[in-house]
Amino acid sequence: MDLKNYIADVPDFPEKGIVFRDISPLMADGEAYRFATSEIVKYAQDKGVEMIVGPEARGFIVGCPVAYEMGIGFAPARKKGKLPRETIEVTYGLEYGKDTLQIHQDSIKPGQKVLVCDDLLATGGTIAATIELIEKLGGIVVGTAFLVELKDLNGREKIKGYDILALMEY
Ligand code: IMP
Repeated sequence: MDLKNYIADVPDFPEKGIVFRDISPLMADGEAYRFATSEIVKYAQDKGVEMIVGPEARGFIVGCPVAYEMGIGFAPARKKGKLPRETIEVTYGLEYGKDTLQIHQDSIKPGQKVLVCDDLLATGGTIAATIELIEKLGGIVVGTAFLVELKDLNGREKIKGYDILALMEY
């Protein structure tokens, strides 16, 4: 199945000159969503993944069905102030300014094999911060999985040494 048929290219969003890759047509098509999920499930099974982590908000859309299908857990990494119990956090740089991601302190067990899922790899800042959270809790990041990788932004460089599955490349 050619998943690119289910990505909407939106010129000049959120700013002029940027082509936004919108994954919502993929999610809206049951067959395409299931196909993408099953590709990530196969990858995760090969790696012996025991837990999935996804950053807010589209990381949930990609990661949760994988966890459900495998019968394993999912832990959300969320923007500061959203999680109600004890958290740890990582602050990371954005193009303009900074952002902070948090995760519940008890969400990963030390030594657990974790797969990080998000919709899209751009500069890699979001995924690098998520990996740092997992490792602070003693988790072992055995892979990262994305629907889309934007090659020009060199996100791979930021997570060098970690295995990457990207179902589509632009
Ligand atoms: P990064 O931190 O620069 O790698 O940006 C990745 C994050 O930004 C992901 O969580 C994406 O949801 C979001 N993002 C950046 N560009 C796009 C895009 O073109 N389409 C959809 N999401 C995007």
